[in-house]
Amino acid sequence: LLDARNLHKSYGDRSVLRGVDLSIRPGQVKAMLGPSGSGKSTTLRLINLLERADQGTIEIDGQRLGTVGGPGSERPAPERILAKQRQSVGMVFQQFNLFPHLNATRNVMSGLTTVQRVPHREAEERAVMMLERVGLGAHAGKYPSELSGGQQQRVAIARALVMEPKLMLFDEPTSALDPELVGEVLRVMEGLARDGMTMLVVTHETRFARRVADEVVLFDDGVIVEQQEPEGFFENPQSERTKEFLRHVH
Ligand code: ATP
Ligand code: MG
Repeated sequence: LLDARNLHKSYGDRSVLRGVDLSIRPGQVKAMLGPSGSGKSTTLRLINLLERADQGTIEIDGQRLGTVGGPGSERPAPERILAKQRQSVGMVFQQFNLFPHLNATRNVMSGLTTVQRVPHREAEERAVMMLERVGLGAHAGKYPSELSGGQQQRVAIARALVMEPKLMLFDEPTSALDPELVGEVLRVMEGLARDGMTMLVVTHETRFARRVADEVVLFDDGVIVEQQEPEGFFENPQSERTKEFLRHVH
């Protein structure tokens, strides 16, 4: 479903990604671990077209992001196409980024009515259904300030899901939460994974990575240093760098 090859990205003379290859099959869950500054968020921003790679390609379902036309006749995509390509990827951030002046339902339906031009009634129905799916049916009318951090993050997840993305990206979705609120968000994500959503999750929750991910990836200094199924990753890592990283998180 996702196929990213040889991604390079620099900011000024600082080389942040130095040849990242990453692919995900439909329904697969990948967890991305790695120290601060290793390039995890940058990778997600490239996949989400929030930024452009200096070098390398990203394909979703065989369509190369940022371009139109087939191999050999590719050209830069116009903004209309970029907007469409962005919709195939949902993103959830560490900071929930909800609109404070909109209630939960309005937050969830905002992309449907503005970007997808879905009629108000239908958008509202879909938003309420999605809020029920993340366990917030009873809170649909509440504003972000009336919700806990865990509830706000679940609204943010519902807002991404309602757009029916092919791929969901999560960037440390529980890092801003009080410890007692982490579980409710991880449970929603685990449910999504079980329902077959394709997911790429940057997280420090190694227990979650171990239980839910099909594969675990370790980033270090702009490259992937290890990539394998959770049991091997945690029990029998191949790279010295992974062993060192695990000594610090365990
Ligand atoms: P963390 O665990 O702290 O979130 P990360 O692995 O997500 O780290 P990135 O956010 O991808 O790391 O950043 C990688 C490097 O790129 C860092 O050194 C960061 O300072 C730098 N960087 C990221 N965005 C920019 C930017 N817009 N301009 C300049 N430097 C940037
Ligand atoms: Mg980051």
